[in-house]
Amino acid sequence: PEIGPVLVECRGVAKYFGGVHALEDVSLDIRAGELIGLVGPNGSGKTTLVNLLSAATRPTKGTIRIDGHDITKLPPHRIAHVGLARTYQIPRPFDSMTVRDNVATAIMFGRTPMSLRQARPLAEQHLATVALDHLADVRPGRLNLHQRQLLEIARAIASDPKVLLLDEALAGLNPAEIDNAVRVVRRIHRSGITIVIVEHLLRVLNQLATRIVVLDRGTCLADGDPQTVMSDPAVVRAYLGK
Ligand code: ADP
Repeated sequence: PEIGPVLVECRGVAKYFGGVHALEDVSLDIRAGELIGLVGPNGSGKTTLVNLLSAATRPTKGTIRIDGHDITKLPPHRIAHVGLARTYQIPRPFDSMTVRDNVATAIMFGRTPMSLRQARPLAEQHLATVALDHLADVRPGRLNLHQRQLLEIARAIASDPKVLLLDEALAGLNPAEIDNAVRVVRRIHRSGITIVIVEHLLRVLNQLATRIVVLDRGTCLADGDPQTVMSDPAVVRAYLGK
């Protein structure tokens, strides 16, 4: 997709937990059509940034706007209405309903409310996008880790987001599953959704991301196209700890 106007705008964002400065003065613009890889060593602030962008926590300083809406005072359950959806590292589907209805209920709480009956056919489409349509009738308890993560992604796109945050969606997968997940992420990106993916596998991000943002000790260490960022001496140092 072509790169469009700014969708997510972070200005001077900081998050402190007592004396711990998890993020310090982060300013970041995310444009429509980007597929951003968010990387950094453990403890660099990636999860904190994802939690701030999804209104799960509030910044100590600074402002965050999504599609023009200030989200810093938004209750977390309203985030889908400004056009942002996220996945969690540990998916928690509802095991009392089928895979299809897990996605259908996510649609019902999205930007265009509708009944379960209306939502079910749409749920099938989202399941096809993540290549899980053949498992629509089973309970999530029967799915393996990879399939659960795909279901988590299907539930996220069900709210019809403009921006999708994927928090370590490839963690713990084998190489064939990673290839499959990469295909799914590309398909979603091509459908016009802007994506931010937190991922440790730099090799994967190198071929997937249009841009890479590196956090280190709560600040933005590097930001740019994958090739430039990966060959940046400061990035190499942060990763190798030298
Ligand atoms: P990453 O996701 O890159 O591993 P985090 O955002 O989880 O990094 O953490 C950034 C820093 O903030 C770390 O030093 C971490 O210990 C601290 N931190 C994160 N969440 C909390 C919290 N709820 N309470 C106290 N410290 C926290």
